[in-house]
Amino acid sequence: QPVILGPEEHRIRPELVSPNAVRVTQTLQAEGYKAFLVGGAVRDLLLGIPPKDFDIATNATPEQVKRLFRRAFIIGRRFQIVHVMFGQELLEVTTFRGSSSEAAPRDEHGRVLRDNTFGEQHEDALRRDFTINAMYYDPATQQVLDYHGGIEDIRAKTLRIIGVPEERYREDPVRMLRVVRFAAKLGFEIDPAARAPISVMAPLLNNVPAARVFDEMLKLLMSGQAMACLERLRSEGLHHGLLPLLDVVMEQPLGERFVRLALDNTDARIKAGKPVSPGFLFASLLWHQALEKWRAYQAAGELPIPALHMAADDVLNGQTEKLALQRRIASDMRDIWAMQPRFERRTGKSPYKLIEHPRMRAGYDFMLLRCASGEIDAEIGEWWTAFIEGDGATREELLTRKP
Ligand code: ATP
Ligand code: MG
Repeated sequence: QPVILGPEEHRIRPELVSPNAVRVTQTLQAEGYKAFLVGGAVRDLLLGIPPKDFDIATNATPEQVKRLFRRAFIIGRRFQIVHVMFGQELLEVTTFRGSSSEAAPRDEHGRVLRDNTFGEQHEDALRRDFTINAMYYDPATQQVLDYHGGIEDIRAKTLRIIGVPEERYREDPVRMLRVVRFAAKLGFEIDPAARAPISVMAPLLNNVPAARVFDEMLKLLMSGQAMACLERLRSEGLHHGLLPLLDVVMEQPLGERFVRLALDNTDARIKAGKPVSPGFLFASLLWHQALEKWRAYQAAGELPIPALHMAADDVLNGQTEKLALQRRIASDMRDIWAMQPRFERRTGKSPYKLIEHPRMRAGYDFMLLRCASGEIDAEIGEWWTAFIEGDGATREELLTRKP
């Protein structure tokens, strides 16, 4: 049985709850179903943080949910969830899931491959990862249902795994990355029982499909606490050999300043609610690897532009396999890198052409990072800023200023 808390105890500010999320729960409840906000949204509300999205859990089946909303789409083949759209806002509605049974199919390391049964609410709570992620909030009654002591852990700022940590990591090794992300993002301590097995069990991440690890890495990098997350991954023994990207990133002394600046920049954008492009992010993380290869190809006699493309190929081929870098991200990275030598040409028509480039903004921001890290002369960045902001006469003057 869950502990039930009223508004006096949990102090959730109702104005932080999306009106559309309230609409969805009301609609479901009016049809006689149970419906609650769940997971990260409830956790964030309890912490007084405005949630970035709202997940809803219900005992209605996906078909039953879909019928109640005009713009609702059933997503996923194995375990279906429903996406309900209101304007730009997307709400994810999930049917209560059953606890992962002994009988669920697993790989040879114990990772659960499929388990897609519907279940009761208490079973749904049991299969969630952390106590603080397993609470339900009903906007109508303003009650929080806490099945696993999540409230206490919120107050104590502790990340605690539901069940036996070793078993839960074995079922799904990605949970080890989630622990680190939430600890860094929320500034919480990891409960010792959850923390101890990580360094030993870390190699299990090798058996997880690369695309899933990539998704989790992206969430980590976009958490608003990217540097803290990476440092935490390292201190928990979670990066060496497992995440080839991080080996590259954390072990290039020359690139460290650049990566730090890039991630601080990303964190600041996330905190300001600005978009961050994964292409820009990964272009930054891997720049010094590309730079090293670019220089090596030039030293071997290649011309600068072809040498840069060869370096980009090497880096991208090396990372796509293991990291499952999507093609679109890889091509954004290549665009950003390939633009860099063009910032050095500051005469004639080329600056005018470059500012028309569709990815100019990203290329320019990237070049400014190179200036800030001391890799190239700060004067180049200042020149381009003046050129971009300047009127026709200013631009002509700038073009004559450089030989
Ligand atoms: P965020 O703020 O980053 O979205 P979140 O807690 O909402 O955090 P999601 O990945 O959106 O994280 O997952 C939603 C909920 O689903 C979680 O709060 C948790 O209850 C459950 N969940 C997600 N991933 C797992 C997992 N690997 N194992 C168990 N439960 C999970
Ligand atoms: Mg979420």
